[in-house]
Amino acid sequence: MTQPCWNARFGRSASISPRPRPPSFVASSATRLNFNLAGSSASWDSTGWIPPPHAPPACSPSTANPRTSEHSSPHRTAAEPRPYSPTRSPSMSNPERQIIALEESHFGLDGGAMFGIIPRPLWARTNPPDENNRIAMSARCLLIRDPDRVTLIDTGMGTRWSEKERGIYKIDAQDAGLRQALAAQNLTPEDVDDVILTHLHFDHAGGLRTPDAEGVLRPTFPNARHWVQRRNWSWAHSPSARDAGSYRVEDFDLFDAPDAPPLHLVDGISELFDGIEVLPVHGHTFGMQVVKFNAAGQTYAFVADLIPTASHLRDPYVMGYDLQPLKTVEEKREILYHAQREGWILIFEHDPTTAMARVDLDRHGQPVAVPLE
Ligand SMILES: [Zn+2]
Repeated sequence: MTQPCWNARFGRSASISPRPRPPSFVASSATRLNFNLAGSSASWDSTGWIPPPHAPPACSPSTANPRTSEHSSPHRTAAEPRPYSPTRSPSMSNPERQIIALEESHFGLDGGAMFGIIPRPLWARTNPPDENNRIAMSARCLLIRDPDRVTLIDTGMGTRWSEKERGIYKIDAQDAGLRQALAAQNLTPEDVDDVILTHLHFDHAGGLRTPDAEGVLRPTFPNARHWVQRRNWSWAHSPSARDAGSYRVEDFDLFDAPDAPPLHLVDGISELFDGIEVLPVHGHTFGMQVVKFNAAGQTYAFVADLIPTASHLRDPYVMGYDLQPLKTVEEKREILYHAQREGWILIFEHDPTTAMARVDLDRHGQPVAVPLE
């Protein structure tokens, strides 16, 4: 039987219709599966190709959700994100941008859950399990340093774990974690201007809050704008029984207080600021976003849980956690198609050893990761 070519372009794609939401959470773009990774000019919905919107309200500060009410924070006056424009090339800017991978913590997850239908003898070659079948995982965040801004992508596991949980997840060194990693760059959490959350699973949003000396949870990044897809924000507050264990509402319900940092809920594809684009994908969970940007002429994509490790590039290598595994396959192919043809560098959030890699094809035409030295 002939395997389908991994980089084949896709036909029609059905729109996603997750279960109903409270009215205040319904996003106008939630039924459209946008996919416009390389600045091409169309997207998908249930009727097939549709032309790009001319001036979409791609991002907006949160006002629809009563939990993210209007703030008086001075950061509300920061420049609002610009609507996505397929004709504009954000890749021309930011020659002085620095890209720094930050190891927030290491932990372990069941290898079978991480590789779905792949038999253990295959995944164990590249990701050897421990005595409890756990494979090594990194909680890797990304620092984007511009001359005038500090941007952080994801916040890792954070510090709020019981001894029992630390044992279950084999959590290591997270107490020093992100604060120490930032200090190594001569930064504090207060220096961070923007926090982009790929999604709100606990190993991505766990570092959003930190207990103070009295044990009261405070925002870890009090001066930062926080960005997440509206669809993921909605889903995280009302997940399915299958994925409820991956969301801890106390991680991200921090925006109600009068002095809370601002939260921006993003609707679909958007350039947030300074050429940093977000591309929503829905196979892993609804409303996750891949972050794509350019530095010194090189395109990068922080692929989060779409491709969690360098061992997850091939089609069937999809996590058992994913809500829509076939959607993950489609979305992964689309990313890899562009990454291989256009020389993108992928940044892996969970690979224990490989932070960044290019994509090449092996002699069978299958995608492989080529780690950067
Ligand atoms: Zn996840």
